[in-house]
Amino acid sequence: EEEKKKEEVAEEVNILGISVPKESNLSDWYSEVITKGGMIEYYDVSGCYILRPWAYMIWEEIQKKFDGDIKKLGVRNSYFPMFVSEKALSTEKNHIEGFAPEVAWVTKSGNTDLEKPIAIRPTSETIMYPAFSKWIRSHRDLPLKLNQWCNVVRWEFKHPTPFLRTREFLWQEGHTAFATYEEAAVEVRQILDLYASVYEDLLAVPVIKGQKSELEKFAGGFYTTTIESFIPTNGKAIQCATSHCLGQNFSNMFDIWFEDLKGKKQYVWQNSWGLTTRSIGVMVMWHGDDKGLVLPPRVAATQVIVVPIPNKKDLNQVMEKSREIVDELKKLGVRADIDERDNYHPGWKFNHWELMGVPLRLEFGPKDLQSKQVKLVTRYNKTVTVLPLTELSKIPEMLEDIQKEMFRNAKALIEKRVIKATTWDEFMKELNQKNLILTPWCQQNSCEETVKKRSAEESKLEEGDHLTGAAKTLCMPFEQEPILPEEKCFHCGLAATRRVLWGRSY
Ligand code: AMP
Repeated sequence: EEEKKKEEVAEEVNILGISVPKESNLSDWYSEVITKGGMIEYYDVSGCYILRPWAYMIWEEIQKKFDGDIKKLGVRNSYFPMFVSEKALSTEKNHIEGFAPEVAWVTKSGNTDLEKPIAIRPTSETIMYPAFSKWIRSHRDLPLKLNQWCNVVRWEFKHPTPFLRTREFLWQEGHTAFATYEEAAVEVRQILDLYASVYEDLLAVPVIKGQKSELEKFAGGFYTTTIESFIPTNGKAIQCATSHCLGQNFSNMFDIWFEDLKGKKQYVWQNSWGLTTRSIGVMVMWHGDDKGLVLPPRVAATQVIVVPIPNKKDLNQVMEKSREIVDELKKLGVRADIDERDNYHPGWKFNHWELMGVPLRLEFGPKDLQSKQVKLVTRYNKTVTVLPLTELSKIPEMLEDIQKEMFRNAKALIEKRVIKATTWDEFMKELNQKNLILTPWCQQNSCEETVKKRSAEESKLEEGDHLTGAAKTLCMPFEQEPILPEEKCFHCGLAATRRVLWGRSY
């Protein structure tokens, strides 16, 4: 009887669990983890997905932190319409050229064709800046610092992936205007630091800060700074968030100027910056394992799940004490919850909460009742800790340790996977080993274009389709060793001017 029951449980667990190992098929693994882990429901419009509470609560944690951080810098929230006229959208020539292929248009209302099609925002520069032009008159109106939390639509052609590349996504977009270049430049980096902190301090994902190449910078911008990470399993790089200095390009086109102290007309210096729900996907890819999601404590909606293991005799006592434990944890500021469902075995519950990625599982049964202790199992490394009931106050610290250790491990991993190369052969070898490559570079557009083409062609000769695709520049890391006078570009042999990071990318 007992054996049969166990078999049944095992079977249930199987159905519940992840069926594809992360290493052998990352994309199937990913879609199982995010659907079975309660984050995503698929939808019948390609590239669009339902964000379920388990994912949305992470977004709320990101919002809480970042919103608080930018308010300290004097940024205020506002909301602009999602529709934009063709005229406004095409005001800045390079900007529209960059975005045109991905813009979705509304052409009809009911059965009637609109007189002029209206675009859905892919980003809001062209929506906000006509208003900026009205609001900014004198130097006293500056700086102007606005942000909005909203959705945008980019009709991407690349294969969509939930969170990472979607056609509609949630983000914040900050738009600021300054009297001087210097002020704008300072803010670009302040925001980039805040983005790095969202990834590193909340999501436990290590990033590399740097500047984009001319080819990769924001359409219509002056220069783009970025934080870049990668997915260790397939070696693909991913752009995590970007902070752009727009220079005076947009202010010239949208006529945003002020009179300086001498009464002279000056165009404002502008920045724009954005972080999206992509961040959640990057976190899942980094930390998830063959049992499901692994959430870093600071973003986990439930940080500790209490699973009572009652027998018939002690049922009431075990349940009562378990509830007391939850209350005590809540008082300690821990997001704790209890799984009281009586139609599931404890074994099933263990698997369920592992799948959901809850950082700590607290087991409490009749034996623990007697010896006045609890058993804690850490999700990310499966460590078991036994804690006396009198020491529950250690749990907040345990959660912080988990957070820090997850980040430390991830950071050590990315550091090992950034490899220096000075020749084409070394470069291709490391690329095919799924590494990111740091090379001396000439910073020429034509060189970057050729590297893209050549790396795509040569990788076709490699075996296995996971190794194909063009390499592109990710960023010129801010932290890098100075270029020596005799150093040459690894590819074209011209004098090198900066070191740049390359990789295949999402
Ligand atoms: P951008 O305004 O183009 O600089 O985009 C801001 C950030 O949005 C980028 O740095 C990416 O991290 C992210 N992003 C771009 N495209 C998508 C997409 N299709 N889905 C989710 N996130 C995206």
